[in-house]
Amino acid sequence: MAEYETVIGLEVHAQLTTKSKLFCGCSIEFGAPPNTHVCPVCLGLPGSLPVVNAGAVERAMRAALALGCTVREHSVFARKNYFYPDLAKNYQISQYELPLNENGRLVVEVEGTTREVIIQRIHLEEDAAKNIHGAGSGESTLVDYNRAGTALMEIVSGPDLRSSSEAEEYLKRLREILMCLGVNDGNLEEGSFRCDANVSIRPVGQKKLGTRCELKNINSFRFVRKAIDYEVARQITVVSGGGTIRQETRTWNETQGKTLPMRSKEEAMDYRYFPDPDLPALAVTPEAIEAARAALPELPEAKRARYLAELGLTAADASVLTGHPEIARYFEASVAALLARANKLTRDAAGKRVANFVQSEVLRYAKADGLRVELPVTSDHVAELLALVESGEISGKQAKSVLADVMASGKSPAKVVAEQGLSQVSDTAAIEAAAREVLAANAPNVALYKAGKTNVMGFFVGQVMKAMKGAGNPRLVNEVLQKLLSEAP
Ligand SMILES: [Zn+2]
Repeated sequence: MAEYETVIGLEVHAQLTTKSKLFCGCSIEFGAPPNTHVCPVCLGLPGSLPVVNAGAVERAMRAALALGCTVREHSVFARKNYFYPDLAKNYQISQYELPLNENGRLVVEVEGTTREVIIQRIHLEEDAAKNIHGAGSGESTLVDYNRAGTALMEIVSGPDLRSSSEAEEYLKRLREILMCLGVNDGNLEEGSFRCDANVSIRPVGQKKLGTRCELKNINSFRFVRKAIDYEVARQITVVSGGGTIRQETRTWNETQGKTLPMRSKEEAMDYRYFPDPDLPALAVTPEAIEAARAALPELPEAKRARYLAELGLTAADASVLTGHPEIARYFEASVAALLARANKLTRDAAGKRVANFVQSEVLRYAKADGLRVELPVTSDHVAELLALVESGEISGKQAKSVLADVMASGKSPAKVVAEQGLSQVSDTAAIEAAAREVLAANAPNVALYKAGKTNVMGFFVGQVMKAMKGAGNPRLVNEVLQKLLSEAP
């Protein structure tokens, strides 16, 4: 059997975080009662005129610049003509021949292999309304025009991806960048970040692209992988069985676990694109482009590199902490606050302490909703808590229960520790008394220790901590035990 190479290009539709729609002032709030955010423009009533939303242009431009695109000073809105109930005007306003942005790139890495993906274009377009099938007696379709006219940017990649894992990685990195810029909320469930995948195969070594199938509207990273894997296997079966691939649009059916045909190329519509006479060419000044470029924030990849270099984090830790812009901000604020409180700590040590605590404890209670993350305690409280551990006042174990109390009461960690008398015992005499009892009760282990089996130290520490109900300062317990063991005959 011949060996085949997979070729994938992705088209991502990302909803922009504007308050209102692309060509009218209607709100884009998600979940409002049907047909309450509508006006003559987004209902396509005769005589209404669209006016472009400057905030949408600015956001699309910011995304484009972060992805290395060139921004066109004059771009054009066109009418894409088709008749469908979710499109009241009978055309969608989209950019066609002259898009706002083009020629960017995004580099992704999967298992040590890097892949440069060309971003062919990023253009603006309006979303369609939403059809709700099976309404009423089960046979009707209702249309909710709240979504009609919502500002989208379509990000079109070249046919540069070679596996479903690369496609998933590309989507994750892209989503992370858009969220970091604040131009998209990354919400896959609500459909504000969705993708179509163009998938084809060709014999290894062949330059010419194979016939592609377009997989429509995939709204989860898991489905992207499954849909592409299924589609590649299907195409290989067809081609190696002597058949040919028909160019068609297919949809992923999760229940059946397969892609199913929607419409073939022969049925494809001629959209009769032409420039929208109601909208002048979109002009962006070079000054506006440069101002947007200068205002770009530090992007996730640069952040990860900085966390590795400056704070000594592992790549895995840095990846979790930079995955959401709010968590990255929270992490950095906590590190800064901890350094201010515990001035003997190095940046490396502070970074690692906060990274561990935030990932293992704080994020368990965090709730993310798009660009917002609800964190259980403030970054100041994280720093205060970790400073108490650092000074030896409480143990790392106690820090977890203090966190729970801070979450429940909203009181500061120091107050919780004081009120509950949690300060760990740093009184050497008390530790020594407990340690002497433990050693006396475990003579065989003491003998082992003296015979060179120093790993029984962990056992002694555990026993002393148990005797002190977890309140002993572990560092002091260690010191005292070592002293006693070296003294004993
Ligand atoms: Zn409207």
